Amino acid sequence: MKTMVECIRCGKEAVVELRYCKEDLCQYCFKELFEKRVWKANKDFSLVTRGDRIVVGVSGGKDSSALLFVLHKMAKKIGDVEIIPVLVNEGIEGYRNKAIEKARELCEKLGYELNIVSYKETVGFSMDEVMKVRGPNGHKSCTYCGVFRKNGLNQAALDFKANKLAIGHNADDTSQTFLMNLLRNETHRITKFGSQTSEEEGLVKRIKPLIYCLEKECAWYCEAAELPYYLGECPYANESFRGESKEFLNELEEKYPGVKFNLLHSFLSIQEELKKNPVEEKPFLKCASCGNPCAGVKCKKCEFVEELTSKKNASKS
Ligand code: SF4
Ligand code: ZN
Repeated sequence: MKTMVECIRCGKEAVVELRYCKEDLCQYCFKELFEKRVWKANKDFSLVTRGDRIVVGVSGGKDSSALLFVLHKMAKKIGDVEIIPVLVNEGIEGYRNKAIEKARELCEKLGYELNIVSYKETVGFSMDEVMKVRGPNGHKSCTYCGVFRKNGLNQAALDFKANKLAIGHNADDTSQTFLMNLLRNETHRITKFGSQTSEEEGLVKRIKPLIYCLEKECAWYCEAAELPYYLGECPYANESFRGESKEFLNELEEKYPGVKFNLLHSFLSIQEELKKNPVEEKPFLKCASCGNPCAGVKCKKCEFVEELTSKKNASKS
C-alpha cells in the first residue's frame, strides 16, 4: 500500500513537492506560501499601494488567473485599489477562444467585467493572418505577438487611466529573459526588466507580482484555490528562442532543483549593482506614426504593421 506523504508544516496529506527546498506541502500550506511570496514581492518592490488603479493582463491561462485572484485578495486587504481585467485576443483560432471562456468564468466568479481588445482592432491583423502574410523573410511568431500584446495592454491601461499595469510574468519568465539577454549579449537590457518597469511618458508602469513564483506553482495555486484556467499550448509557440530557453531551463531544473531561483536571484543582484552606476540612457523619442514612445524613428508595432500591410498588398497584386 502506498503510504501518504505528509505536509511538512501541518501533517495533512501533501499534494505538492517543492524539490528546490525539499518540502512536501498540502494545498492549504502551499496556497499560504504562494501568497506570502507575492506579499514579499510587494514589499521588496512596492508594487501595489492604496489609490492604485491597476489594469491586470489576463489570458485565461494559469499565470494570469493566479495573478488576478491574488491581486483581488491583496486589493481587498490594502483597500482603495481598483482592479480592471483586460484580455488581449491575439486571434488564434481554436486556442485563445477556449482560454477566453476560462478568463470570463474567473472574472464572473470574482465580480469583474472582462474587457477584451483584439489585435484585429489594435493592429489590423489577427495572429492567424500574421502567420499567413509574413512570408519566408518575416519574423518569428512571438516577435510580432509580443510587440502587439505589449502595445495592446499599454494602450488599454492608458485608455482606462490606470497608473499600473500588472502582468503574470513569473520566476520562470524572468530567469528565461535573463538567460536570453546573456546569450544574445544584450546586457544593457538587464536594468530594464524585472519586478517592475519605470514609467515614461505614454508608458504605464508595469508590475510583476508573481516574480517569486515558479510557473508550475501558478498552476498548483489555481488548483488549490479552485480557479478556472486553460492549459492548452499556443500552436505558434514552438518557433521562439524563448521556447528553447524554457526547455533548457526546465531540463536543468529537473536535474538540479533550484537553478531557476538561483538565476532569478543572480539577475536581481546584478541588476542592483548595475543600477548603482547607471549609464546615461538615450531619451525616448516619439514614434513618427503613432506618437508612442520608442527608441528610433518608428516604434516596433508600426514597423511590423507596415511590413505586414505591404506584404499583404503585394500578395493581392
Ligand atoms: Fe503569441 Fe508566441 Fe504566446 Fe503564441 S506563444 S500567444 S505566438 S507570444
Ligand atoms: Zn508607432
